[in-house]
Amino acid sequence: MDAGGERRADVLIDGDRITAVGPDLDGQGPGRTIDAGGCVVAPGLVDLHAHLREPGREEAETIESGSRCAALGGYTAVVAMPNTTPAIDSAGVVREVQDLGRTALCDVFPSGAITVGRRGDQLAPLAEMAALGVRLFTDDGCGVQDSRLMRRAMEYASGLAVTLAQHCEDDALCGGGHMHEGEWSSRLGIPGQPSEAEELMVMRDIALSRLTGARIHFQHLSTRRSVAMVRSAKAEGLAVTAEATPHHFTLTDSCCAGYDPVFKVNPPLRTGTDVAAVKAGLADGALDAIATDHAPHTQEAKEQPFDEAPPGMLGLETALALALTELDLSVADVVALLSWRPAVIAGIAGSHGGPVAAGRPANLCVIDPTATWTVVPAASASRSRNTPYGGRTLTGRVRHTILKGEPVVVDGEAQR
Ligand SMILES: [Zn+2]
Repeated sequence: MDAGGERRADVLIDGDRITAVGPDLDGQGPGRTIDAGGCVVAPGLVDLHAHLREPGREEAETIESGSRCAALGGYTAVVAMPNTTPAIDSAGVVREVQDLGRTALCDVFPSGAITVGRRGDQLAPLAEMAALGVRLFTDDGCGVQDSRLMRRAMEYASGLAVTLAQHCEDDALCGGGHMHEGEWSSRLGIPGQPSEAEELMVMRDIALSRLTGARIHFQHLSTRRSVAMVRSAKAEGLAVTAEATPHHFTLTDSCCAGYDPVFKVNPPLRTGTDVAAVKAGLADGALDAIATDHAPHTQEAKEQPFDEAPPGMLGLETALALALTELDLSVADVVALLSWRPAVIAGIAGSHGGPVAAGRPANLCVIDPTATWTVVPAASASRSRNTPYGGRTLTGRVRHTILKGEPVVVDGEAQR
């Protein structure tokens, strides 16, 4: 299965490349045979949005442990967010993450910060990071608040042929909020942040894209009106793309009723109407990709009271199964949202996201779309345990993951 459609075939791999796709290739090579009976062989999944926490927060995750989660989840590539310590805002830190990624169980593509230290007041050296292969820039964790600086960043990014990605949140408007502002925040007495805090920045950046002609990618959109604005910006012909996370199409603000910080995330879980709009956006193309926003936090951090705990939840091991289980889409449509569409946005379609064809790098995942399994937080390959899906039974499982010809996951087990 790839962007070109589906066919029944064997896939022959030699070294790090696919050398043939066709009938009866079993036994053609000298190596091992991996059984994909009853499964879908697809390009490896691509995550536009993972927090691997290294450097700086290795107690929560490392590039190695995060990449193992990714491989188990069917990913062969992840874009690592730059909100590390130090932030990925210079060639030196880009190189450090790239070096750590060389032995990982998936390809790790660092994103770069838009502003120095992600502080929002001075442009980071985008050109020197772009020269090292960085294709996506974001201050994720924060949005760039200053409209004039964002305009300059967009003009600069256009010239470098890189893409800016925005975590849309108006700081002043959502200051002090710990969940979605609405019926549930009132009932629970937890200060909320309104949908408008996200929507104002989506609206502004669509306007800046119109003004500059620059591409903009919206991260983890969570509200009905955000999805509608992106849909109409696309209809207008603007160079706008957007992602949504599994938690924003599977959970609502009512999950916060027990004050369990595992449900605290940024942007916050929204209402049932918003969930329905995110699902509709994924179905009709308003949203281009599913991204995990995999955000590991230690048990100590997540065991604090709701208003003190950091936002974020794990995502790499459950994204595919949540999409197959919860979205009313075909397997091919789900894989498109998780593989070849995000590969294009990340600027890595030459090596990830298919097609499954001779000559291409052998970055593949083998999915059993009908297998069911139950999420066990303690069994996660992450250093952290903050998944809100513990005990949930899901349909669709990754059986094997092949990275540059190497089987890194076989029969659901990481090989190293
Ligand atoms: Zn974010």
